Amino acid sequence: MPSKVRDQIVALSRFQGGSLLTTSFFLDIDSAKRTRKEILLDSRSMLAGARADVAALDAARDKKASLEKDLAAIEAHVGGNPASPAPGLAVFSCAGAGFWEVIELPEAPQNRVVIDRNPSVRTVNRILAGLRRFLIVILDRKEARWYETYMGRIGPLGSLSSDIPKKVKSGVTGQESNRIERHVDALIHGHLKRAARTTLDILKKNGFDGIWVGCADEIYGDFASLLHQPAKEKIKGRLKAKPFDPLDKVLAEAAELEKRLKVEEEEALLKTLVGEIEKGRQAKAGLRDCLAALNKGEVQTLVVTRGHSVPGKFCPRCNLLYTDELKCPACERKTETRPDIIDEAIEAALHRHCDIKYVTAPSRLDHYGKIGALLRYKASS
Ligand SMILES: [Zn+2]
Repeated sequence: MPSKVRDQIVALSRFQGGSLLTTSFFLDIDSAKRTRKEILLDSRSMLAGARADVAALDAARDKKASLEKDLAAIEAHVGGNPASPAPGLAVFSCAGAGFWEVIELPEAPQNRVVIDRNPSVRTVNRILAGLRRFLIVILDRKEARWYETYMGRIGPLGSLSSDIPKKVKSGVTGQESNRIERHVDALIHGHLKRAARTTLDILKKNGFDGIWVGCADEIYGDFASLLHQPAKEKIKGRLKAKPFDPLDKVLAEAAELEKRLKVEEEEALLKTLVGEIEKGRQAKAGLRDCLAALNKGEVQTLVVTRGHSVPGKFCPRCNLLYTDELKCPACERKTETRPDIIDEAIEAALHRHCDIKYVTAPSRLDHYGKIGALLRYKASS
């Protein structure tokens, strides 16, 4: 996930409206599926339902007034903005506290309005988890191009052209030819050096999850050795694309590499997790143990199978999660049923600043209850 979006989600998960409640609004705005009129009708009926819920709420007047303002502001936002190219929209609002956040989603969420003490960020986190911003640099001996890819789109970031003559002119031989060759090599070296510097500058300015480099083998070694350490560390692979290739071709190749990288990363994560689980060391497997570890604040990274969902129990007093306890073991209070305890676990993990990683089924995690956790320290028992 791009660091900016991650920061946004962390900020959302930290937001506390004090005594006020927060509205989280999710809308499927995929224009390929429905007309704008239909989308607006959906939005209106969702908000009407939420207004009725607010009216029926047994709460202080300022609490209700803040929620009513949320709903009015969301309605104005949805109706007042032109159709967005993104298929999903998430809005978080707590008008009484001056809090307002809009996030475009690259995937349509399920339509819903959630009124709760905190912003409901798990949907956004799940959708944005796989989303990353990549920097592409494509170069040859005299040209260089920089692009970024994000949400399935590609955009140019800059270009560089150096005046480099052909290596050997016809009719020139011997020492003279060697001299020209050395001179041209020095010019190419200078070009690659400028390209390396620009790569660093772009990287520093925007921050990226990785870099794809497109260049021929003859200059790759030279370019890679000229790249500054922060850029070098970000290289995730190489493209075949050339500086003047059409953008859709570059995007298609980068998308393919990104897909492959994701599979490799999931495999590496599962290898670490399963290894730790089998050695009984710094990991837990299965819902019961993972929830217990989350409750105790032991989780470093929560690993969840995409699309996996099961009901469970929640203690609203202690904010603790359980599989089937009818009474909270900590405070003896009756627990509440939650339709999707995995979603609650993701939200708890966000609040506790754990990493959350998703893996695609079928995977080795299926044998371990489809959920696992890497712990901050060695498992107690
Ligand atoms: Zn409790």
